[in-house]
Amino acid sequence: MAAFRPVRDVSGTNWIGPVPGICHKSPTVMEYEAVIGLETHVQLKTKSKMWCGCANEYGASPNTNVCPVCLGMPGVLPVPNDEALRLTVLTGLLLGCEIPAFAKFDRKNYFYPDSAKNYQITQYDRPSTQTGHLDFEVGGEIRRVRITRAHLEEDVGKSTHFDRHSGVDFNRGGVPLLEIVSEPDLTGPEEAQAYLNALTEALVSAGVSDCDMEKGMVRCDVNVSVRPKGARELGAKIEIKNMNTFSGVRRALEHEIPRQIEAVRRGEKLRQETRRWNDDAGITEPMRSKEDAHDYRYFPDPDLLPLAPSREWVESVRALVPELPLARKQRYVREFGLPAGDAEVLKSNAGLGRFFEEAARGFANPKGIANFVINNLPARLAESGTDLSAVRFPPLALRDLVALVDAGRINSKAAQEVFGEMFATGDAPAAIVERKGLAQVSDAGAIDAICAEVIAANPGPAADFRAGKVAALNFLKGQAMKLSKGKANPALAGETLERLLRA
Ligand code: ADP
Ligand code: ZN
Ligand code: MG
Repeated sequence: MAAFRPVRDVSGTNWIGPVPGICHKSPTVMEYEAVIGLETHVQLKTKSKMWCGCANEYGASPNTNVCPVCLGMPGVLPVPNDEALRLTVLTGLLLGCEIPAFAKFDRKNYFYPDSAKNYQITQYDRPSTQTGHLDFEVGGEIRRVRITRAHLEEDVGKSTHFDRHSGVDFNRGGVPLLEIVSEPDLTGPEEAQAYLNALTEALVSAGVSDCDMEKGMVRCDVNVSVRPKGARELGAKIEIKNMNTFSGVRRALEHEIPRQIEAVRRGEKLRQETRRWNDDAGITEPMRSKEDAHDYRYFPDPDLLPLAPSREWVESVRALVPELPLARKQRYVREFGLPAGDAEVLKSNAGLGRFFEEAARGFANPKGIANFVINNLPARLAESGTDLSAVRFPPLALRDLVALVDAGRINSKAAQEVFGEMFATGDAPAAIVERKGLAQVSDAGAIDAICAEVIAANPGPAADFRAGKVAALNFLKGQAMKLSKGKANPALAGETLERLLRA
């Protein structure tokens, strides 16, 4: 049972072991490393399907978004979806790919109950985009994975198996799908998960796909092999299917890598195969020995013209390629001096990032704005069940609010209240401060009077402080804030109390 007990070295990338008793006794123990490449499928965010006018819509009743084209009836002809082509090229450019001047569609032939045509239209040897890369962060370090290609294909229907029969829903059949293939550059489970997060974050922020895993909008096949550390040749590629989450991908690799290493150590020769991740059992199981490309009898689809994107068109798409989330994060740290943790939150949520930037650009205290954008704003949005589009005040109003705090006009407690009111009404912060009488009392005379009253009313704590119990000051300060209805300048109140008590 305890057969595989993997040991990972500190870099987290090399797998040593397992076999206790051989492993640490032998001075010449062989170390192994994992090699991982991912094939990620994402549904493109188009209004209609890839070859017909049916809606590309999640959650409709089975077989309501179908027509003769996406049902593969005889005699119909596919018409490519322009927006899907644009999103494909946009993705390629986002990932630094080249966009070949010639691309085409091919048929990948196989029998499958949820693909009525018995072939899938895909791009085989001439994809629309190729040779790019994606940088991503893992454990505070930047890694780069090369992207082999991102090509356009179509989704198939979805089978559901009931007690005594099965059903096929063709709503998903013919939905545009982008397959993003990575080079085998990933070295461990965590890295694979981080890559997937970075990739989908980039695609969501570029509006290419919603990448909602629960809705099956992202699916990922994992290819993994092991080899002696430092070897140049790749080991036998094993493909794992059926992970429903990115953490499932990580867990599958955490199981599969030691399994392969142990097999190799036992002297077994691993062979190329496809395995299935059994999430309940936490293991991978044999599924089939992997087909080769020639088994699919790929050939150019005779119903579809090759693609010859003009340079002008490619450039017009390039003009709209957004900044990658990681680059945006790095810029927030560099330009606005934000702590990495804050920048990370704003990276993951492009909408909040834009809101922050608009408010903070050219402003002296970006961190003050980030605090509201990261904490208060999402909390209110969640509370009210709305999103950023429903926010009633403009980003610049937030800057005004922070400026009021920084100028000592209101204290930070009042600022919380003002923010809540801004969110509820959309009113300007200065107007709210005025209306609610929240202006901070920084007037020395007024604060002196409040503090004197507090000391007189609390002789016990006052005596404690004088006797050296420093903590008693906090209590008195709290009383002063209370007496001022939260409006006293807290720092000034603290100083004043101390001065009066020491007098
Ligand atoms: P296939 O033709 O079987 O689909 P490819 O060579 O196109 O195989 O590669 C598919 C994926 O598998 C790519 O992401 C690639 O990086 C990865 N890959 C290829 N060979 C290996 C290997 N030996 N170990 C791990 N990953 C691999
Ligand atoms: Zn259709
Ligand atoms: Mg391939």
